[in-house]
Amino acid sequence: MTEAQEGPAYFEEGALVAVLTTQPLDRFLDYKAPAGGCFRGAFVEVPLGPRRVLGVVWGPGKGDFDISRIRAVQRILDVAPMGEDMRGFLERAAAYTLTPLHAMLRLATRAPGLSDPPSMRKIYRLGDGEPDRQTDARRRVLETLREYGGLSFTMGELGQMAGVTNSVIKGLVKQGVVREEDTPRDVPFMRLDPDYGGKELTEAQAAGADALRAGVRSGDYGTTLLRGVTGSGKTEVYLEAVAECLRKGRQALVLLPEIALTAEFLTRVEARFGAKPAEWHSGVTMTERRRTWKMVGQGGAQMVIGARSALFLPYRDLGVIVVDEEHDTSYKQEDGVLYNARDMAVLRASLASARVVLASATPSLESWTNAEAGKYEKLELTSRYGKAILPQMRAIDMRSEDLPRDRWISPTLKRAVDQRIEKGEQALLFINRRGYAPVTICRACGHQVGCDHCDARMVEHRFLKRLVCHQCGETKPMPEACPSCEVEGKLAPVGPGVERLAEEAEKLWPDARQAVLSSDLFGSARALKEGIERIANGGADIIIGTQLVAKGHNFPLLTLVGVIDADLGLQGSDLRAAERTFQLMRQVAGRAGRSEKPGQALLQTYQPEHPVIRSTLAGDELSFWRAEADERRHAGVPPFGRMAGIILSGEDAAQVFDLGNALARNAQMLRDIGAEVYGPAPAPIARVRGRHRVRLLVKADKGAPLQAALAKWVGQFKLKGDLRLAVDIDPQSF
Ligand code: ADP
Ligand code: ZN
Repeated sequence: MTEAQEGPAYFEEGALVAVLTTQPLDRFLDYKAPAGGCFRGAFVEVPLGPRRVLGVVWGPGKGDFDISRIRAVQRILDVAPMGEDMRGFLERAAAYTLTPLHAMLRLATRAPGLSDPPSMRKIYRLGDGEPDRQTDARRRVLETLREYGGLSFTMGELGQMAGVTNSVIKGLVKQGVVREEDTPRDVPFMRLDPDYGGKELTEAQAAGADALRAGVRSGDYGTTLLRGVTGSGKTEVYLEAVAECLRKGRQALVLLPEIALTAEFLTRVEARFGAKPAEWHSGVTMTERRRTWKMVGQGGAQMVIGARSALFLPYRDLGVIVVDEEHDTSYKQEDGVLYNARDMAVLRASLASARVVLASATPSLESWTNAEAGKYEKLELTSRYGKAILPQMRAIDMRSEDLPRDRWISPTLKRAVDQRIEKGEQALLFINRRGYAPVTICRACGHQVGCDHCDARMVEHRFLKRLVCHQCGETKPMPEACPSCEVEGKLAPVGPGVERLAEEAEKLWPDARQAVLSSDLFGSARALKEGIERIANGGADIIIGTQLVAKGHNFPLLTLVGVIDADLGLQGSDLRAAERTFQLMRQVAGRAGRSEKPGQALLQTYQPEHPVIRSTLAGDELSFWRAEADERRHAGVPPFGRMAGIILSGEDAAQVFDLGNALARNAQMLRDIGAEVYGPAPAPIARVRGRHRVRLLVKADKGAPLQAALAKWVGQFKLKGDLRLAVDIDPQSF
């Protein structure tokens, strides 16, 4: 039993309650319940020193100090109390990630204006009677209101839809023909209809949908790995699980790895359920975020589409969580609280008796292993929807291609692209590097331009006309002279980025229409959406893109994918490199041939005999996963062993290393559970924003009580000055 589940559910006025606040304190604070009492889970405002702070009533107070000095809860907020499953989730997530509970609560209360009293806004409806004098503008207003009978509009919306100025509406209000009403600002979302626009499913899809629906109906926790090749129609299948969840009156959450994908996805959801779901990601306005947060708590939002942080919304009754593209590394939060949204989704669901659907064409080794072991149910879609077939994959051996310096598109790839253009089809050239060139070097002294604050090179971005650090985001103009030897005019780009590749393509195919898709070339999510739509509608012959295009877009005319550098991810010693490369290559290749015409993927490589390249080409996923699993099992690393990274950082490198060494020397509690400690060593990125970073890695057996030992271990040291310590359970690289 977690603390969240003990004690009474209601506290009479004056009873002692323990309140968890978002303040960095390592304990609950005692207060007296306010007049009228309060429920456990209530969001409250409490006095703390001279301030008022946000908190949640977590349980009964301990009353272990002078009771006469305990103050009363100031105010209960006008939002739904936090449910027991959510409180349990925050406690368990805090314990798992070794994060203080108050930091978890902060994640769960990231809604602007949460504690503001409910505010009102004016809306407009059809009133009685006819205007004293008809004009075209007035007629348009009345027609709009009649046409959308039940709906009400704000002044802005009505003016826009009717094409009139505010004064026209105000005139009609004066005469009572249009009624002005006050309504709460945070209103429920439009109802979704689970039986609205279902597609006719193929036999394989229908079988999958049946299995998922049965799971949802059971009302018990369960996780299903929905593995289906790209274009097999996984989305249609898991939307049926969502539909069943809505029928049961429970809420559904769909997590997507990229905001860029939400626009296309929203359209599909609207087509399926007849209305738009709520959205939760950094691109959503403050007002809308607040509305979503409140409505999720009250049940006025049936479905949320969101980024990983949507897991921390206060669902009233969560029935299904879908994690789409579950293998995607962006589910790992690498800043602040370090958590993997895929794992947290499973935890959240297990406490809420909800179902999880993990969908991917190339599952993570973790999920694949859990499915093999029977911990997750397995569903498979082995062929593409409709007439589409999987692309044929082939390597281009770059050792035998004749390429001049500073050219990256091989003659073989060029010929293949030529053929597509001739046929009026699209080709995609993929390179996983943003900017113009990854390295800027001085031809006089050999100096490479680096970031002043990070252990990283500055990357030239010609589009932005600046050098950019991909670690800290710092930018500066391209210097005239070398920062090191001060010779002018000798700085030169080395290697290709997406912008430079576009330049080469423009020379090779001057008459082709070209579209470059890279996150920093689009000012907004809307611009990106329009760019993607233009491509999908045939507005480009050649698409040149980064990772952004690898995920989930449907370009029906695209029949050729050329990977410029298939070897890029294989360097370095990271044990996950093979898995990443395999997933990325298969995903990118999966963009080709998604509708009627067959597709082809060509991988430029200098090491076609490399095992990862070979299995990528063979497409034999089972043998790839098995070989990967064997290797990881042998090394005792996740998912077969447990790992944690400890990142220490500070401005003074020597101090950071001293702390690292002290930790390594005092690690008996880790050895007691059979764990091994490696390091300290410079972290994968050894300096970020002027702070030096050092990492220790801890490896333990699968069943070892790692968190408890880690907590004891790092708890031995009080951090002095600007030193920081972060625990990263299941680090992304090892
Ligand atoms: P995945 O998510 O597996 O890559 P999608 O769900 O995006 O696949 O489906 C690929 C394409 O096939 C989409 O355009 C989708 O609308 C279409 N599609 C899939 N299943 C059906 C179906 N049963 N009826 C009509 N269209 C479908
Ligand atoms: Zn930097």
